[in-house]
Amino acid sequence: MPIEYIYPEFEVVRNFDRCIACRVCERQCANEVHALDEETGLMKADDSKCVCCHRCVSLCPTRALKIVKTDHTFRPNANWSGQTIQELYRQADSGGVLLSSMGNPKELPVYWDRILLNASQVTNPSIDPLREPMETRVFLGKKPDRVTFDKDGKLNTQLSPQLALKVPVMFSAMSYGSISYNAHASLARAAEELGTFYNTGEGGLHEDFYKYGKNTIVQVASGRFGVHPEYLEASAAVEIKMGQGAKPGIGGHLPGSKIVGDISRTRMIPEGSDAISPAPHHDIYSIEDLRQLVYSLKEATAYKNPSLSKLQRFTTWPPSPRASPAAAPTSSPLTDSGAAPAQHPPGSGTMWGSPSNWPLPRWIPA
Ligand code: SF4
Ligand code: SF4
Repeated sequence: MPIEYIYPEFEVVRNFDRCIACRVCERQCANEVHALDEETGLMKADDSKCVCCHRCVSLCPTRALKIVKTDHTFRPNANWSGQTIQELYRQADSGGVLLSSMGNPKELPVYWDRILLNASQVTNPSIDPLREPMETRVFLGKKPDRVTFDKDGKLNTQLSPQLALKVPVMFSAMSYGSISYNAHASLARAAEELGTFYNTGEGGLHEDFYKYGKNTIVQVASGRFGVHPEYLEASAAVEIKMGQGAKPGIGGHLPGSKIVGDISRTRMIPEGSDAISPAPHHDIYSIEDLRQLVYSLKEATAYKNPSLSKLQRFTTWPPSPRASPAAAPTSSPLTDSGAAPAQHPPGSGTMWGSPSNWPLPRWIPA
């Protein structure tokens, strides 16, 4: 019989001098960690289910609880840390890739703090920066092979629709439902203020946010949640989500318990139903399918908006290197949603648990 027991990562510490067995923690813990031992009349805990969310700690009326990280470990060596060994055991036990939520659990560089705008291509740097401000605008969209001008110097070439960013930063996609109304509103307002774009993810677009359309990228994902003409019309660009680096082979899954009220209406699905948006996109099983979807969306938006295709670096189908050249002529630009957090953060808060999980070889899209 295989040995499956892995020591829990967190321990629930209860001060029994303070605990009045009110059972608030039992009622409030979504993971059913706490229970009353009927025989002894004392509260007990199943540490293995605790995810250290602190809900019970906050709600305990007598401050009787604390959660501590275990100091239990495996014997590490120069090649294998205790954590890596534990993750390998977990993966071998479950047969699955470890995921975490709320960002990356590892100490990896936060590139945001290290952004360097390299102006080395500026041939004539400002002599007086006050009167000659540096241009940070970026245009995303299909570029012509060459441009021609008329005799008055006006542009003859018809350009494809472009996304104009005042700063070279865009927000990754997070759907309404996975984040709250207020969080969504904050992203929309911030994008408008900064002159960039936020992305609805696959959760549809609440009508209150239509007014931010000039700064909105809407997604068409495999679940097609909340996709209708007004939704497409209200956007600056449409993104086809073919894959998502954060959820390799799984795609989005919003539990039915979160599909309520406005979220259900915006997604156009019944309250309480699970919102599953699998990766890969099941409208797309070939390069021709992708091309067809891009053209359908362009038709629906009267060719006003650029279409983006979001590819997943590690997706199994369509593999990015094959999809990229196919998408390029039709859908511009491409978003590379990598699983590698230090390189291309996926939109979702979900994150692969460990760099040791990343499959090899790492395919770089063409
Ligand atoms: S909420 Fe606090 S006081 Fe109430 S049973 Fe849990 S630990 Fe004890
Ligand atoms: S910290 Fe969260 S998961 Fe852990 S026992 Fe408390 S409520 Fe449950």
